[in-house]
Amino acid sequence: MKKFLYPGSFDPMTYGHLDIIKRASKLCDILVVGIVTNSNKKPLFSVEERKMLILDALKEIGVENIEIVDFSGLLADYARDNNITCVVRGLRDTMDFTSEMPRAFMNKHLYENFETVFLVSNLEHSYLSSSAIKEIMYFNGNIQGLVPENVYRYIVDNNKGVNK
Ligand code: ADP
Repeated sequence: MKKFLYPGSFDPMTYGHLDIIKRASKLCDILVVGIVTNSNKKPLFSVEERKMLILDALKEIGVENIEIVDFSGLLADYARDNNITCVVRGLRDTMDFTSEMPRAFMNKHLYENFETVFLVSNLEHSYLSSSAIKEIMYFNGNIQGLVPENVYRYIVDNNKGVNK
């Protein structure tokens, strides 16, 4: 059973994330989408909200071989403990590449059978990031079309992030 991990903060999930999930799910039997909770950034969305938003967004792409989890601690440890052989990361630009390479080397050092697969983002998603979404939300700008429709609706209905 080939189990891959796609980790991130998903705060919130964007169309860029959804595209990577769709493509990565075809490369393995189970894709574990992992919400990493030990980031230095203070999240805008709770873990429960992020899980619910990812789960709902998955309906849009109709893939079923996905598990959603959250964890803190070392990625390599989580992967080893859960029989995950490969981590998937999205590459938008050379800055992603520069920050991802040392992580890939370090993960391999910590867990020698662990592989990293980079998926190059689609051109139309290459400028999309969760932090850009939050910045637009802060100034009450329009994020429709940048995040899955259910995420957009949730943000609008709950007045999330607006001028906070
Ligand atoms: P962000 O960088 O948007 O805050 P995350 O920390 O949740 O997002 O990123 C999780 C993974 O998804 C990383 O590998 C990141 O490079 C990738 N990713 C984020 N946004 C995109 C996008 N628009 N297209 C492709 N990959 C992306």
